[in-house]
Amino acid sequence: MAKLTVRDLDVRGKRVFMRVDYNVPLEERDGQMAITDNTRIVETLPTLKLLIDKGAKIILAAHLGRPKGKREATMSLRPVGLKLHELLGRSVAFATDCIGEVVEKAAAHMKDGDILLLENVRYYNEEEANDPVFAEKLAKVADVYVNDAFGAAHRAHASTEGVARIVAKRGGFAAAGLLMERELKFLGDELENPARPFVVILGGAKVSDKIKVIDRLLEKADTILIGGAMAYTFKLAHGVKTGKSLVEPDHTGTALAAEKKAIERKVNFQLPTDTIIATPVDTGKLNKKGKPVYDLTNIRTIRGDIPDDAEGFSIGAETAANYARIIQSAKTILWNGPMGMFEDPRFAAGTNAVAQAVVDATQKNGAKSIIGGGDSVKALNKAGLGDKVTFMSTGGGASLEFLEGAVLPGVAALSDKK
Ligand code: AMP
Repeated sequence: MAKLTVRDLDVRGKRVFMRVDYNVPLEERDGQMAITDNTRIVETLPTLKLLIDKGAKIILAAHLGRPKGKREATMSLRPVGLKLHELLGRSVAFATDCIGEVVEKAAAHMKDGDILLLENVRYYNEEEANDPVFAEKLAKVADVYVNDAFGAAHRAHASTEGVARIVAKRGGFAAAGLLMERELKFLGDELENPARPFVVILGGAKVSDKIKVIDRLLEKADTILIGGAMAYTFKLAHGVKTGKSLVEPDHTGTALAAEKKAIERKVNFQLPTDTIIATPVDTGKLNKKGKPVYDLTNIRTIRGDIPDDAEGFSIGAETAANYARIIQSAKTILWNGPMGMFEDPRFAAGTNAVAQAVVDATQKNGAKSIIGGGDSVKALNKAGLGDKVTFMSTGGGASLEFLEGAVLPGVAALSDKK
């Protein structure tokens, strides 16, 4: 059932309690917390502008970091309020708490189109516990509930789920924001009946993290391309040696079951044919986290067994070219997880080749390309290609759970379209 969205609502003069994902990266500069990436704030601007135009009184709730129920000054949302003011070009009031008299007083003085940002909801442990009394306190200033925080929708917390239920129970509306609506459209509806060929690219560290997604997509995809360290568990399952590579020996059975299902369903399931490996040499030094630092020496490409003293770090050039060719003929593409340790430029070529192929398919072939969040979004942005795909999810864990077919509590709590 489709969910109600902000576009369906008449909110003039109403207090709209809007949950946003303002969990932005911060760093300390001259004793002040400075935001190092605005993306999450920018992503909420379309919904905010629409609500301003509609004459709503907008009350924004969000979490920042993990203060674990304490008022951690470094995790205050105040710098976010200042940045939002700058980006919107209109004043944004800030409440030093998210519940209580401060909030109620500030809300009472709001005019249509005003914005009030509440302090970090995770200053209270009751937020993550989805405590009903706390949710009632938050809901005191909510005539309407809007959720634009897709990245937090997989958690049933007071501000992502509890308040929505309370508002709906009172006969009010709980609606999706424009960003949330786009996430549900691209990660959900668009993949229900994809234009074919539908090519899925899966990478990243672990099979165990992605197996539910693989299993679900085996029912939809024409082709699945596997990369990243995840590929080594599949290789191990076939008796190929993986040296010191990141593998999950306990999941070789899982890997084989996925391949069996692929054969049954006639899905073209591909594993890398070549691998870039290196020999790690202990430097005797420790990093900031106290872990040993290794020099990665003798970087080379191999096929077949990885020597005992070596470790795999990426798909090789042959695999990248083969994957790129398959991707370029796709009409729908879903990509989740890098093809290797792309953060290190020595191992980024395979991931970058896949990124370029996804862009080419989108731009030249009219394919719909959907990037399922997390590190593949980082990889595309790093390659300067972020704006050349159809859709990049803003969620990490939430995107993965949604792609697995899980019902996200923050979505389930929204009102259905009539
Ligand atoms: P995930 O969060 O599961 O999508 O995994 C992403 C992480 O896996 C990134 O930080 C990559 O650097 C890492 N990764 C991908 N392939 C490899 C590999 N072959 N060896 C080590 N790390 C890898």
